[in-house]
Amino acid sequence: MAARPTAPTIYDLDREAIADYLTGTPSYRVEQLWQGLYTDGVDLADITTLPAPLRAELAEKLPSSLDMSVESVSEHGDTVKWLWNLRGGAAIETVLMHYKDRSTVCISSQAGCAMGCGFCATGQAGFERHLTVGEIVEQVIRARRVAGERRVSNIVFMGMGEPLANYDAVWGAVERLHGAFGISARHLTVSTVGLIPGIRQLADASLPVNLAVSLHAANDTLRNEMVPINKRYPLADLVDACHDYFDKKGRRVSFEWALIDGVNDRASDAHELAAITQPLRAHVNLIPLNPTPGYLTQGTPPERVREFATLLTNLGVNATVRKNRGTDIDAACGQLRANSAAAEAADRSGKPTGGADGTVTQINPPTRRGSA
Ligand code: SF4
Repeated sequence: MAARPTAPTIYDLDREAIADYLTGTPSYRVEQLWQGLYTDGVDLADITTLPAPLRAELAEKLPSSLDMSVESVSEHGDTVKWLWNLRGGAAIETVLMHYKDRSTVCISSQAGCAMGCGFCATGQAGFERHLTVGEIVEQVIRARRVAGERRVSNIVFMGMGEPLANYDAVWGAVERLHGAFGISARHLTVSTVGLIPGIRQLADASLPVNLAVSLHAANDTLRNEMVPINKRYPLADLVDACHDYFDKKGRRVSFEWALIDGVNDRASDAHELAAITQPLRAHVNLIPLNPTPGYLTQGTPPERVREFATLLTNLGVNATVRKNRGTDIDAACGQLRANSAAAEAADRSGKPTGGADGTVTQINPPTRRGSA
């Protein structure tokens, strides 16, 4: 398991902690630093309002946390994915997705994940450690630099890890992204695979963020298999917690459903899913499963995806088929890291490696883009 670094990064410090750190310097230095880090979002070295010796001291004592290992850009440039090395040895992923009128950053909350969902590359690799507030926030800062003029308006906690298993750091990041970046709560989405205590804590928190539940199965037998945490927090209790969230926050819960060929894409699955989501007036996002190394099951073919979506709509459910973005750049959760590890193993052994189906994994070479 990777060790968590003992020294904080500069993005771990809130405004008060920065003021404490800068005690003895003119008080306007706090504002200059805060503006450079968050309003301008530039690298510490480029905050030229600060004296060079102070920048050098900060860079040495409070270094940033993300060291880029791989950057992959999709064919049309609408999706960028990074694999970052963290201090202490763990690796995490971040994805930037451009849409017509906005850009969204999908961020990781843990290195690895302990939830063990069988269809997920991250789940297969296991848990390494929780991320800190700074490590979560810095992912957005680095992505925003690359987005440039394209406004990053939405943040989704849907990368590696189970956000509600790292509640305090995730909430600290939510507050920072809201307060320092000005991202409204309705543009911040926290996903969960169904940790009920975390959902209840989120319902009592101050900001009405969006809650997205990764459901994937709508009966306990199938869900116990696909999402093992369901054995501890079964569906009926999870659905109760979602109703309570909706009642307390006035925000509709959304549900993610990775469509897997022959597993959860039958008419009976659509009926069970509708029975849960229709009373909640919830939105369902249907995402054909990205192929995952080592997991032989395939995503539902496009025609049956459309049939499933139509059936849900006829059952009164608000459903959207999400584009499977970045299949060409390993954009499914944990794939870039899994494939990078496979390539490293291949380098070490001199032999190609791949998933259980014997396919050889190809890692895209890093495309260096300056500041990211
Ligand atoms: S799907 Fe999400 S909760 Fe499940 S193992 Fe993967 S990262 Fe963890």
